[in-house]
Amino acid sequence: MKKYLIDNNNNSNYEYEDEKSIDSELMCSICSKPFSEPVSTTCDHTFCRECISLWITKKKKSCPTCRQQIKSDGEFTQVSRPLRNMLDRLPIKCSHCGQKGLQRDNYNDHINKICLKKKITCTAADIKCDWSGLREELQKHLTICKFEPLRPLLTELITTNQQFINQKQKLITDNEQLTEQNKKHNIQINELTNKLSIVNNVLPSLEKFTEGQSNSIIDFSQQNITDRSLTNIIQKMMNKNYSVIQLQGNVITSQGITDLIQVLLHNSKTLIDLWLSNNCISDLGVGTLFDSYLSINSTLKQLHLGSNCISDRGVEYITFMLEVNSTLTDLWLYNNKITDIGARNLALVLRQDNRILKHLDLQWNKSITDSSVEYFVAMLKSNQTLERLNLRKCGLSINGKMQLLQAVAEKKDFKLYI
Ligand SMILES: [Zn+2]
Ligand SMILES: [Zn+2]
Ligand SMILES: [Zn+2]
Ligand SMILES: [Zn+2]
Repeated sequence: MKKYLIDNNNNSNYEYEDEKSIDSELMCSICSKPFSEPVSTTCDHTFCRECISLWITKKKKSCPTCRQQIKSDGEFTQVSRPLRNMLDRLPIKCSHCGQKGLQRDNYNDHINKICLKKKITCTAADIKCDWSGLREELQKHLTICKFEPLRPLLTELITTNQQFINQKQKLITDNEQLTEQNKKHNIQINELTNKLSIVNNVLPSLEKFTEGQSNSIIDFSQQNITDRSLTNIIQKMMNKNYSVIQLQGNVITSQGITDLIQVLLHNSKTLIDLWLSNNCISDLGVGTLFDSYLSINSTLKQLHLGSNCISDRGVEYITFMLEVNSTLTDLWLYNNKITDIGARNLALVLRQDNRILKHLDLQWNKSITDSSVEYFVAMLKSNQTLERLNLRKCGLSINGKMQLLQAVAEKKDFKLYI
């Protein structure tokens, strides 16, 4: 048999008994010993697994016997069970204690549990006894071992210590979490503090505003107030700010409106609802109202101008205002002298410019006729803001009304009064 240079000396703890008589079929040609974990190559030659693996990594990537190429140790296959059994049953002798007649596959049991000459550690090594010696000396050591008798106590102490270590680790983790939470809380507190200071800054002006709101309605309706008596009222009205001023049902003319302007300007930041219906303010009064008050930035949302002898000329002022206004949502112009000219102008401004008015009341303007209908229809198609249009008791025919009804048929929540 050829012998090769690698010495796989992994069986140094035992010797084969009568090695020369072992069948050469059972011998590895690399280490010259009986196979240990034998494997076969694809060329059907057998070696110890470790021997052939070392061979192909350290020597050549080919079979030592026939030189056929070996790519990797993944190509090896385990040899048959009978061959492995024969190898396992080979008789050996323990190199430590010299005991003969052991089977090779029982050697691990012998050395780990039985061999008296094997060097071992104390059974109390786990509780810190650092004795080591031959197995046959262990019993003698145990008679003087200081640790083994303390096993119950030491075990308890070790367990307790481990519990302390665990608790300490838990406290460290808890502390880290608390620190993290604390950081988050601090951030939240900062945010809240910032918000609070914003609220505190706004609060005074809010209080001032609500103060104005709480007493903000003044009602002088239906009291036969003339331009003359209005001047007395105006003096009283200058002491406060109002959100609603009710002057409907009096006999105020354009002259009264001229005097009223100072009140309206005084309330230009608070006034939301102005009632002037059923007076005689006429086109001139409307002109003054728009020139001196509504052309500036006002807060007015509702304007009641019904029954005031307003004609198309007055409507012209109103359309100028509607072109640029951004607050007025409700406008009452019922029972005036508005004709198709005024009606068409209103329809045009609502079609093109105004995107704020929600409610327009034109009822009882008898001179608004079918010739305004196409303007309203076009307006209703493009204006998406207006929600209510009142054209009752105007000069519309059934046909005109039908056209208007058709125009709003597909508008959602639109209320057309005709
Ligand atoms: Zn071998
Ligand atoms: Zn081969
Ligand atoms: Zn032994
Ligand atoms: Zn010991």
